[in-house]
Amino acid sequence: MAKIFDCIIIGGGFSGLAAARILQKAGKTFLLLEARDRLGGRTHTQTFSDGKYVDIGGQWIGPTQDRMYALCREYGIEWYETYNEGQNLLDMNKVVRPYIGLIPKMDVASLINIDWVLKKLERMAKKIPLETPWKAKNAKQLDSISLEAYVRKHCFTNNCYKVVRAGLETVYACELNEVSMLHALFYIRSGTSLNVLLSIKDGAQQHRLKGGMQPLAERMAKTFIDHIRLQTPVREIRQETDHAMVVSDAGEFNAKKIIVAIPPTLLSSIRFTPELPLIKRQLLDKLSMGIVGKIFAVYEKPFWREAGFSGQVVADDHGLFQTMFDSSPAHGEYGVLLGFCIAHRARDFFSFPEAQRQELALKTFEHYFGAEASKPLHYKDHCWAEEAWSKGCYAGIYPTGAWTNFHSTLAEPTGHLHFAGTETSAIWYGYIEGAVRAGERAASEIIHTSSHS
Ligand SMILES: Cc1cc2nc3c(=O)[nH]c(=O)nc-3n(C[C@H](O)[C@H](O)[C@H](O)COP(=O)(O)OP(=O)(O)OC[C@H]3O[C@@H](n4cnc5c(N)ncnc54)[C@H](O)[C@@H]3O)c2cc1C
Repeated sequence: MAKIFDCIIIGGGFSGLAAARILQKAGKTFLLLEARDRLGGRTHTQTFSDGKYVDIGGQWIGPTQDRMYALCREYGIEWYETYNEGQNLLDMNKVVRPYIGLIPKMDVASLINIDWVLKKLERMAKKIPLETPWKAKNAKQLDSISLEAYVRKHCFTNNCYKVVRAGLETVYACELNEVSMLHALFYIRSGTSLNVLLSIKDGAQQHRLKGGMQPLAERMAKTFIDHIRLQTPVREIRQETDHAMVVSDAGEFNAKKIIVAIPPTLLSSIRFTPELPLIKRQLLDKLSMGIVGKIFAVYEKPFWREAGFSGQVVADDHGLFQTMFDSSPAHGEYGVLLGFCIAHRARDFFSFPEAQRQELALKTFEHYFGAEASKPLHYKDHCWAEEAWSKGCYAGIYPTGAWTNFHSTLAEPTGHLHFAGTETSAIWYGYIEGAVRAGERAASEIIHTSSHS
């Protein structure tokens, strides 16, 4: 009989790696199978020939993401403040206006409206029970409408709608009509508050890791690198009475327990015997991924800072990108401008060939920050919807009806199978912090069940 591991982990993103760490500490035998030729999943640090790098996937951490800061400390990885000084730009109705702080320069009625809508979302989100969103007061009602329907109804001016929409599309990485209002509120509560999700200072975009995000994943794996098989997509999982067999492109492996730490939208690409419970399959059929592209231009220095600009932009549908940020490394060692191209804008932008995309993007950067922006050292864009092992980002989206009809079946173990991945976390759902928490939870389920069997 072939070796039977205590556990096989499927997926080498932050969730799978966080699970592996815990299993190693508990002295369990395990194997981690990863489809790609690299670790890190939805985080990916890409280095140019001159050593400069950009994070084409997840890059920020912020307050209350306690596990992320703890991991950085444990592995000796430093973090630094995202640049957040100077004038921001609002590109609306084909006019670009500078503003300071969180309040854009626009008509007073729209400003009051924006403040009112955001505060309303904030108040409603506070009432969503994180572990059981379907038990919220008015859950059925909230789960019957999309975020788009809610925002349309409560934005009384066009300008208000444009700003709120660009901000929320950046948060959810999809069309607002794809998200259930209940899910939108759960997501806000899961990440503490809308203000936190939208902000740099004291928010989810406050810090970057020196050297990029993916190196942290690699550091986590260092002590169990021999237990990892890259380029090993799992195709099938067969559950037997006392163990499960995993069929991969590199052969078959057996374990007492399996942790599946892949995006929920990819679960249907694995054949399960017996099939997953009907309720889980039905929920999985409903979830979708958003579409987000990150567009980078790398410069010798962050020249816009000297001109008094923060590098931050919010743009209505006339703009190429919903939002832009200064994504330079610590101390502005060199300059990086980053544009977020999401949902319909991403579908349009990525329908062009790369040379045309570069031309369009650099024209936009030049429009905001002057001629110097048109001559970067490097240009890089990346669309996550085109990655076979992610199929989109940032995370699985619950459409209307999904939470109230299917509850939280994603994280529920079935037989020898346990489930991780950021989408199984009630806290910081969709973020790297959520992925780590979910991996640690799944590993502790396994340690707990094996100590009782
Ligand atoms: C553009 C972008 C920006 C983002 N920005 C941020 C941010 O700033 N801060 C933040 O906290 N979060 C951010 N996120 C979200 C964050 O990156 C994810 O929530 C997190 O990385 C998910 O980790 P995970 O381990 O749950 O899943 P994944 O990272 O998706 O890992 C799953 C792994 O499973 C592998 N896999 C899939 N199918 C199989 C199979 N059949 N067999 C074997 N292996 C398989 C995949 O290759 C992948 O490596 C961003 C994401 C993107 C794409």
